[in-house]
Amino acid sequence: MSNVPASISSADPASAVRAGAGASAEQWADWRWHMRHRVTTLAQLSRWVRVTPDEAKAVNDSRGKYRWSVTPYYASLMDPDDPTCPIRQQAVPALGEFLDFADADVDPVGDMFYRKTNRVVHKYPDRVIMMITESCPVYCRHCTRKFHTTDVNGTYFRDNEGGSFEEDLRYIADHPEIRDVLLTGGDPLSYRDTKLEEIISQLRSIPTVEIIRIGSRFPVLLPQRITDELCEMLSRYHPIWLNTHFNHPREITDESAAAVDRLLRHGIPVGNQTVLLKGINDSIPTMRKLMTELLRIRVRPYYLYHCDNVTGVSHFMTTIEKGWEIMEGLQGHITGFGVPQYVLTTKIGKIPIAKPAYTETGDGLRLRNYKGQEMTYPQRSQS
Ligand SMILES: *Cc1c(COP(=O)(O)O)cnc(C)c1O
Ligand code: SF4
Repeated sequence: MSNVPASISSADPASAVRAGAGASAEQWADWRWHMRHRVTTLAQLSRWVRVTPDEAKAVNDSRGKYRWSVTPYYASLMDPDDPTCPIRQQAVPALGEFLDFADADVDPVGDMFYRKTNRVVHKYPDRVIMMITESCPVYCRHCTRKFHTTDVNGTYFRDNEGGSFEEDLRYIADHPEIRDVLLTGGDPLSYRDTKLEEIISQLRSIPTVEIIRIGSRFPVLLPQRITDELCEMLSRYHPIWLNTHFNHPREITDESAAAVDRLLRHGIPVGNQTVLLKGINDSIPTMRKLMTELLRIRVRPYYLYHCDNVTGVSHFMTTIEKGWEIMEGLQGHITGFGVPQYVLTTKIGKIPIAKPAYTETGDGLRLRNYKGQEMTYPQRSQS
């Protein structure tokens, strides 16, 4: 079965995709249907793409090692003929995941070092992350927490995921300097609304918690999850912020734009964190398109992460020179608020590593603009 049967040439192209997945319009719009029908076998994958021998081997080798699952929605974005398709590379296992890279680490950013309770990681003075789940709708091959989310034998949880939240919430309440709590995982929106509301309302009852942030890739991997009911529930606990994770312009679809619109209409600002990935988005035209398309759907680019040397992810690493080249291809060419901050995530925190657009000389600052034009800006004493 092909994902777009030739017999269907509807004015509504989405209907052909749905037909390929065997879904009615109602089922396709229902996030639970997608979760139940995730692609987890080669036979299911071959309904969407012409599976290559390398992909088949990587899927087989993943067994007992790495989780693999793709929502039908995200699978529908894959190019059936091109194994280098950016969606496909993020979603389908690759042999690179099994290569050994020098200095690769399951936790290069030291989440475990800064962990204070089962779920709370306290690394910065005024904010914490709360890892509330290890589940995700799609197990992104490049996940920076691959050991936690995707590794079948790995997890950062000391107790299991289902354990009580009491100790985690008490830690936050006992540390009034924490005014910003970022729910992450895994993907926090994997929980049903009632469980999420229980967690968020308990956080809200801590007076020193000012903002609650959610890190979720559902707007990209399964935008149907962003229902009006979910947004309505979240909006009762404002201020709520959400950061998502678009990596390629092809991920910006009518469905993802509609999900973002629902969040925004409920007063939830949406930001984006992109990971710089070799062979996926490591080019200026791709990144420029991604950032401008994000602005078009009113998502604010926040971070561009350099890909860390994470075990099972290292094959996606690029060089910092490549990151600089991309940043120079953004800065000045598009509006400043379309330019994310380029950061390295390390054991000592997120470190901005963009190259300054100036050098200091004896005569002042030597400035360089996006066209490569230069001038000297004399530094004068203010006193
Ligand atoms: C990324 C991160 C945060 C949030 O950082 P921001 O720069 O505020 O977005 C907080 N805690 C930990 C442990 C993190 O890794
Ligand atoms: S959704 Fe986020 S946490 Fe989950 S696998 Fe993808 S990158 Fe990792």
